[in-house]
Amino acid sequence: MTLNRTLRQLRNARDRRDPEIYDYTLEGDEGPPEGVRYMTLAEAQSLECNLCGQCCGSEEADLVGYPLRQYTFGGIAPHQWRALNGGQPLIIPLTTAGVARTWRPADADDDRPPAFRCEALSHHPDGTTRCGLWQSRRPPPCDAFPVKTNYYPRDLERGAYILLNTQYQRLCTWVDTLVCPEDSVILKWRSKDGTLRRRLTDAQRTYAARVFREAYRDVFSKEGPLPMREWRKVRVEEAAWR
Ligand code: SF4
Ligand code: SF4
Repeated sequence: MTLNRTLRQLRNARDRRDPEIYDYTLEGDEGPPEGVRYMTLAEAQSLECNLCGQCCGSEEADLVGYPLRQYTFGGIAPHQWRALNGGQPLIIPLTTAGVARTWRPADADDDRPPAFRCEALSHHPDGTTRCGLWQSRRPPPCDAFPVKTNYYPRDLERGAYILLNTQYQRLCTWVDTLVCPEDSVILKWRSKDGTLRRRLTDAQRTYAARVFREAYRDVFSKEGPLPMREWRKVRVEEAAWR
């Protein structure tokens, strides 16, 4: 398996696409977007961060020339992680024009979080970035992103598929990755790069599309993730291919 992708490959792919790449929505019976890779959690965790820096700030992840509005840190607590930055705010709220501003109470609202910048991020001449806190303590979301969320192993064990929350990080090693339970039949339907093989039966393709839609809904639906019993119902279909 050659699941890892280089920063150069991802940049080329991104540059060929238009701003609609962020409209990652599924309509009706639509299948997974082309290029989605399927892998186990162990495979996903074995990939290497390419240091693109897109998980470290809205300006890194959002489209150049558009208002910053897509990728946020989540609600920013009043302490702004000062304890990790010598007493100065670490996570800085930004206006949609990218101007740093002082924290205000509405920034703590997880439902309407602001664009942000992190003071620990630095840029290197080769286009990569570095986290100044990498070897010390970082805010917990930084440690969890994107494959170390603590409940992933439990949910996979129970039979769920998990779409990684890398929608806005088009340069991320883990962009468009669906993590599969170890016994998933979809793992047998992949090419070497982890995408679905072209020659699948209609029934196989329809099932993969259904799984992707359910996983997508788990991440993006306002109602929250499917109860596990629903995932068990979805996976009954897999018996036909075992
Ligand atoms: S602390 Fe490090 S990993 Fe977290 S957002 Fe800042 S630069 Fe990125
Ligand atoms: S977006 Fe992904 S590849 Fe880029 S720095 Fe963050 S974890 Fe690494």
